[in-house]
Amino acid sequence: MHGTRILEEADRLMTVCNSCRYCEGLCAVFPAMEMRRAFSDGDLNYLANLCHACGACYVDCQFSPPHEFNVNVPKTLAIARAESYAAYVWPRAFAGVFARNGLVISLIAALSVAAFIFGFAAVHDRQVLFGIHTGPGAFYRLMPHNAMAALFAAAFVYAIVALVMGVLAFWRDIGEPVGMKTDAKSLLQAFRDAGELRYLDGGGVGCFNEGERPEDRRKLYHHLTFYGFMLCFAATCVGTLYHYLLAREAPYAWWDLPVVLGTLGGIGLLTGPAGLLAAKWRRDPVLVDTQRYGMDAAFTMMLFLTSLTGMALLLWRETAAMGPLLALHLGVVFALFITMPYGKFVHGIYRFAALVRYAREQQMMGHS
Ligand code: SF4
Ligand code: SF4
Repeated sequence: MHGTRILEEADRLMTVCNSCRYCEGLCAVFPAMEMRRAFSDGDLNYLANLCHACGACYVDCQFSPPHEFNVNVPKTLAIARAESYAAYVWPRAFAGVFARNGLVISLIAALSVAAFIFGFAAVHDRQVLFGIHTGPGAFYRLMPHNAMAALFAAAFVYAIVALVMGVLAFWRDIGEPVGMKTDAKSLLQAFRDAGELRYLDGGGVGCFNEGERPEDRRKLYHHLTFYGFMLCFAATCVGTLYHYLLAREAPYAWWDLPVVLGTLGGIGLLTGPAGLLAAKWRRDPVLVDTQRYGMDAAFTMMLFLTSLTGMALLLWRETAAMGPLLALHLGVVFALFITMPYGKFVHGIYRFAALVRYAREQQMMGHS
């Protein structure tokens, strides 16, 4: 007996697949499944998070509908994966956020933006809010650096704590492999698999989005999004080091490292999420968890808006629009930070943990 209906269904499918094994070369899910005769809730959540939703095993399956076995692995694992995020969330009281994710994240984003705009308007008169501020420290005439740093550091630390608590619960439930803490090789392998999105290619032919031809570009869009996000994060870190170590205040010239990193990252965070949203819109509904379109769209849209408002601020930072644009950008980034543990962002963390476990299992079996 499993805890939920979808885990019952996942167990049924994994049992059918374990007898068939036709798809064992497609991704990591099938070899991991073959190591087990029976599946606990933790095992099924592990397999669900190991799945990269490429769709290949649905297109290749001789038992998919209308066959009476009704095998649909991508959709079943997508639902199980989404339910696992709510099952491991910290604090538990926020589990319900995943059910109405699109609505909740839109509301938090709107409230955060409004709070910054009204906060700026309440503290400053029109000459400052719509004034033209240039040179080092221009942004901090709208909001003192220390207040900005304290607010965003608190939001960031909260997000990290919530994410770590969630992934620890997941890690315990999927069964921490023996010797894992000292296994650098498995960690390295998981970093490589995650960095390349190795299992988002349908076993080498590419992913399926609509129809039966592997023409999906989601791997490229994921890479643009992920590396765009990392470059923007690196830009923030370099800017912080400039501020505290070199006493150099933002905004920086267009050729300075934080701006170069931020611009390149921003381009990735515009094109990647736009491509993902378009691909999601076109994707065959038979492959996806249609109930949770809102969760996917909300997070992807937040990334897109973070970049859009950041790029707008870069372009118009020396005009009277700088004050309102700064409030808009800070509001979006703040909302992104505090909603990260309660939306689609967690899929990257849980999938990485599943890849670490898979790499460890492969090591133990003597495969690399
Ligand atoms: S998805 Fe279908 S073809 Fe693939 S292993 Fe399972 S039952 Fe076999
Ligand atoms: S959808 Fe792709 S990644 Fe997921 S189980 Fe099927 S083949 Fe593997």
